[in-house]
Amino acid sequence: MDTWKEVPYHATPLADCNFCGSRVVMMQHTSNRTVDFAVSCTMGEGESPLGDACPLQDPPDQFNHATRREAAKYWNEWAALGASRRVEQQRASA
Ligand SMILES: [Zn+2]
Repeated sequence: MDTWKEVPYHATPLADCNFCGSRVVMMQHTSNRTVDFAVSCTMGEGESPLGDACPLQDPPDQFNHATRREAAKYWNEWAALGASRRVEQQRASA
């Protein structure tokens, strides 16, 4: 059975959710044999103006990493990539 719980992480600042802009938290994921970590969005179902949870509240498997530091690095790189992509789209449509 998989369980998730929020754990503290302060080593580096975490970028806000790249999808909805909400605060994010470090989650510890425990399954049968493994423990890993993923940064997740805090926008849950019912909190969003659209009524749906943010897709990154339950991030895809590639966000899971063996350490908090790696999970944070992955998240921040992904967020930076998405942010630059958005800028390019704005430039392209301007
Ligand atoms: Zn989000």
